[in-house]
Amino acid sequence: MDQAFLPENPYLLLTPGPLTTTPGVKAAMLRDWCTWDADYNRIVEKIRNTLVRLAAKGPGYTAVLMQGSGTFSVEACLTTAIPKNGKLLVLANGAYGRRISLIARRQNIDYTLLDSGDLEPPDPEQLEKRLEMDPKISHVAVVHCETTTGMLNPVDTISEIVHRFNKVFIVDAMSSFGGVPMDMAGLNIDFLISSANKCIQGVPGFGFVIARQSLLEQTEGNARSLSLDLYDQWHTMEAGRGKWRFTSPTHVVRAFAQALEELDQEGGVDERFQRYSFNNRYLITHMREMGFIPLLEDEFQSPIITAFLSPDHPEYEFMEFYTRLKDKGFVIYPGKVTQTDTFRIGNIGDIHPPDMERLVKAVKSSVYWK
Ligand SMILES: *Cc1c(COP(=O)(O)O)cnc(C)c1O
Repeated sequence: MDQAFLPENPYLLLTPGPLTTTPGVKAAMLRDWCTWDADYNRIVEKIRNTLVRLAAKGPGYTAVLMQGSGTFSVEACLTTAIPKNGKLLVLANGAYGRRISLIARRQNIDYTLLDSGDLEPPDPEQLEKRLEMDPKISHVAVVHCETTTGMLNPVDTISEIVHRFNKVFIVDAMSSFGGVPMDMAGLNIDFLISSANKCIQGVPGFGFVIARQSLLEQTEGNARSLSLDLYDQWHTMEAGRGKWRFTSPTHVVRAFAQALEELDQEGGVDERFQRYSFNNRYLITHMREMGFIPLLEDEFQSPIITAFLSPDHPEYEFMEFYTRLKDKGFVIYPGKVTQTDTFRIGNIGDIHPPDMERLVKAVKSSVYWK
């Protein structure tokens, strides 16, 4: 094959997505598909079935794919799942949790926000209190891995309370699904949202929602938007066996099917979780040795992405540090925490222990400020 079609990546993406993909995933995009043809629709159906199998160890779930970035799927899910007379409680501890409440506000969904600040998980006692005090609340939403800080929120504790109060439970598992084992059925999660370009290791272009089918079936007519109507999208996919309502990102979908295949070859979500966890522990151990301080306590840290405090040195500048690392083959991520100056290093994607070893050496030789 002409090298021009598959150029070498000049650097690895140590970001929360889009992330570094395998040559196999990239190569899967080198052919055209007809969005209405049965060959293509079969790929879509296989993807939907695989997603349901990965998400839930029990029956009664269904998957809907939705064009756009992950946020489009969050918006589609909220604005379809919550009826006009419903009320949403948002548990937030970072930018992605707060984005859920921004969507609610913009779409005139009645909501209330319980914000625990960037460094603390949601408080179970306060959650109980809110649910007791406000019986209008019908839905509760939380982010699983809050990518802002890298915090892994305790969905098990939260789910137990939400279930006890009999509320619909929505989880933004965008940056954890496929990389952290989780069972929707066991956790009583009703809607779980993720996207193509995170831990499944596909390329960006669509998101997806895995839903309790009996609940999704009751949402006809709720959507505040035509293109983001999750019910209509689901109905068309079900009735048309893999048909999308509007033009679908065919190449991206084909690449995602390949990414799912490769997840299986790796040994599934458990094995991927082990690789990410190794990458993450290796990174944190060696960054600590070099004097960097992680933002979070170890007990809250996810194996997905780590926020480090920016070095407290007058000569440190993120862009200079970033550029030096990029020249050595690694792209890191700026911070997003409001009160604290941080930078972030992701360790998801086609990233393996030898890459982490090279990264640590690259960081060592990029520290120019002491
Ligand atoms: C990546 C991400 C999103 C979606 O972001 P997009 O830029 O719209 O793809 C939503 N929530 C979380 C937790 C994320 O990590």
